[in-house]
Order: sequence, then C-alpha cells, then structure tokens
Amino acid sequence: MSASYKQKCIICKKNYAMVSWNNRTPICTQCGMLEISKPIKDEKFKKLFNIKKELYERSSFLRNIKASYLRFGHLTEKQIEMFKKVAEEVKQRKDKKEVELPQPDKQN
Ligand SMILES: [Zn+2]
Repeated sequence: MSASYKQKCIICKKNYAMVSWNNRTPICTQCGMLEISKPIKDEKFKKLFNIKKELYERSSFLRNIKASYLRFGHLTEKQIEMFKKVAEEVKQRKDKKEVELPQPDKQN
C-alpha cells in the first residue's frame, strides 16, 4: 500500500479527502464531482468523458483527469490511455473501493 492520509478539502474546507502520491491536492468527492460537472464542447473528449457518474464518484483518478482537461483544455495521449484503462478497471470492480493505480509514474 502506498502511503496516503486524510487532509481537509481545499475547496469546502469541511470534508476530508485522501492525499497520496498520485493525488496531492485534497479535494473531497463532493467538490470533485462539482468541479467536473461543467459541459464539454469538444466531440472527442465529450465521448471520452461520457462514462457513468458513478465511476467518477468511485475514482479520484478519473475525476482528476477530467478536471485537468477542463482546466487546461487538452490531455496527453498517455492521460487519455490511462483514463480509458482506469475507467474500464473501475467498471469491472464489484466492490465500491477506490481503484489503486498500477504503479507510480513521474509527471512532468
Ligand atoms: Zn470539499
């Protein structure tokens, strides 16, 4: 298990969110869902992000990718690949636990 701990959400400053190597900004599920509820105009990304809301609720990774697209207006090929892969993994999981990412990856 990678080290992760709880910190207060930076948006609502009320709920707690998990912080770990792949997710250093504490944003609770509630605020995260709100953040990614903005509409997407680009057809390609509209299609990519058109997955069940439940999957976003279950994976902070999926929320982060979508939030990053909304923030910067683009994604790298690798991020798109990972999004599809993790979305599929979350879908396959029967339990409601958050899906751990396969391995740490350096962000540039
Ligand atoms: Zn919050």
